[in-house]
Amino acid sequence: MPINIAIDGPSGSGKSTQARELARRLSYIYVDTGALYRAIGFYVMRKGADTKDEESVKSFLPGISVSLEYVDGVQRVILNGEDISDLIRTQPVSMAASDVSRIPEVREFLLDLQRNIAAENNVIMDGRDVGTVILPNAQVKIFLTATPEDRAMRRFMELKASGKEDDDAYERILSEIIERDKNDTTRKISPLKQADDAVLLDNTGYEPEETMEALLKIVRSKIDV
Ligand code: C5P
Repeated sequence: MPINIAIDGPSGSGKSTQARELARRLSYIYVDTGALYRAIGFYVMRKGADTKDEESVKSFLPGISVSLEYVDGVQRVILNGEDISDLIRTQPVSMAASDVSRIPEVREFLLDLQRNIAAENNVIMDGRDVGTVILPNAQVKIFLTATPEDRAMRRFMELKASGKEDDDAYERILSEIIERDKNDTTRKISPLKQADDAVLLDNTGYEPEETMEALLKIVRSKIDV
């Protein structure tokens, strides 16, 4: 039976970076479920429609086909035959993903895709509801979080390193993180929350390597790797 490791948590907790590195070390497949919601949000934005308009978003679903491919172990997101992986990493797409992810039909639309990958492969899957809804029987469940300020500061430092920050970037990022947290934790269906059997890891103030060490310790306490 494949091994499934679920890592959930809020935006900016370092989930994706850590999950990707953990998958590399364990030779598992890394599944970034946020990219699927981003793909739907991106499609709706491209159509010029309002991502908050539930009926409109739902009407687009029959015309959408999303799949994941792995090129040299790296996940690529394919939307109606087009590789959009590099187009969905923008702030507007983050907000669009958060909007469409509130819609039950959107979550249902992406459910089988996520479960099927995990049924056939050893995976590390990260998201918001992986341990609670998508893979309730995952052998390892981790809830990775940090304070909003810490998460905003990490994003800010990333932007700064790439020379893209402006003067009010930190405040703006912080308010976007707070807004997305609110969106993700208060939605009726599959809200972001720690599964009862998940191990909590609060990495506020941690360097990335410290988070990796802590994650490995949790994984090794649950499975033999
Ligand atoms: O993880 P990422 O920031 O790429 O996710 C984008 C958005 O997609 C999140 O803010 C959240 O609203 C949504 N999402 C979700 N369930 C998941 C993964 C992401 O609702 N499993």
